[in-house]
Amino acid sequence: MHQDNPAQRIEALVRPSVRRLPLYDPGADPRQLGTPTVTKLSNCENPLGMSPAAAAMLAQQGGAGLARYPDPTGRALRQLIGGHLDVDPARLILGNGSENILELLCLALLDPQDRVVTQQPCFSLHESLPLMMGATVDKVPLNPDFSVNLHAWNTALKQPAKLLMLSTPCNPVGTALSSAELTALIAAAHPDTLLVIDEAYFEFVEDGADALAILGAQSRPWIILRTFSKAYGLAGLRIGYGIASHPSLIDALHRVRTPYNVNQAAQEVAKAAWLDPHHVKRSREFVASERRRLTEGLQAAGFRVAPSQANFLFIDTACNALEVVDELLKDGIIVKAWREPGYSGFIRVSLGLAHENQAFLASLQRAVTALAG
Ligand SMILES: *Cc1c(COP(=O)(O)O)cnc(C)c1O
Repeated sequence: MHQDNPAQRIEALVRPSVRRLPLYDPGADPRQLGTPTVTKLSNCENPLGMSPAAAAMLAQQGGAGLARYPDPTGRALRQLIGGHLDVDPARLILGNGSENILELLCLALLDPQDRVVTQQPCFSLHESLPLMMGATVDKVPLNPDFSVNLHAWNTALKQPAKLLMLSTPCNPVGTALSSAELTALIAAAHPDTLLVIDEAYFEFVEDGADALAILGAQSRPWIILRTFSKAYGLAGLRIGYGIASHPSLIDALHRVRTPYNVNQAAQEVAKAAWLDPHHVKRSREFVASERRRLTEGLQAAGFRVAPSQANFLFIDTACNALEVVDELLKDGIIVKAWREPGYSGFIRVSLGLAHENQAFLASLQRAVTALAG
């Protein structure tokens, strides 16, 4: 039977745990939208873009230097970051985006049937990458007010888990763990569970736990992931980094990565971006003020919004979110509908420039009126 059907022949070759995986949902493709203006608010990028210093460095890339392979461990950038964070560069690893480091963690640590605990709703890769390895994933629900449900975490962590994966600020919700919440989570986890704290939106936080300081005081294994994709505005270059409790965890990740996974231009431009903290500060202030303004506008229009410390908002539309997204697309506005059980009315919208956020709010009000009518 397989002989006649090429798709079935291939399907039979694919590992069962991969066959079952959902495809990542990036949101609509702005290049294919065909409306006069396109406002992309679906991927939590920096609305101000990259720093001028990073852009200048990027313009210098692409010469003969790219004929050579890059530094395989990004020593110069690790030394720069390690110096600022007061962390031994041997405890740092670069990745082709921090997603790449999530993938390396799963490759290096997870056997089939290992257990991973994460949150619901969660960043899709915190679920799909462990599933790819044949691990089981348990998702801990949030409290109705979007805060972390410590009681549920305590219960979930009573059984052994290899990894605990959590983003703070949480993607898609935007809430950041407080010091007390993080400390309670750490206390609930078995000392041999590796804590993976994904801080992709770290630079935007105004009030949250200092995970590096809190975890740094622990003797248990942990890794913190950060990225140049969000506050640094370098999403298209693909570079992120991990800070581990011990160099031996970094060694394990080096064994499963491809040797030149972080390209030369990304390493150079990330260094320039790192050396321009002013741009990150300006981005944080801009995002904070737009976040307040849009949250207030949404609340005044009757929407429930999770309290965010990131550059996106999680909004209960009280409609079918997939239909809301389609309505917004008619106005050229791209946001993400959430697809996890319990959140089918929610959309996640990245904060854009002021006029984009304004256009989003007007379009959302139009959309829910149209759907109700
Ligand atoms: C955006 C995001 C990342 C990934 O970013 P990279 O571009 O791969 O560095 C990782 N984790 C979370 C929670 C994110 O939202």
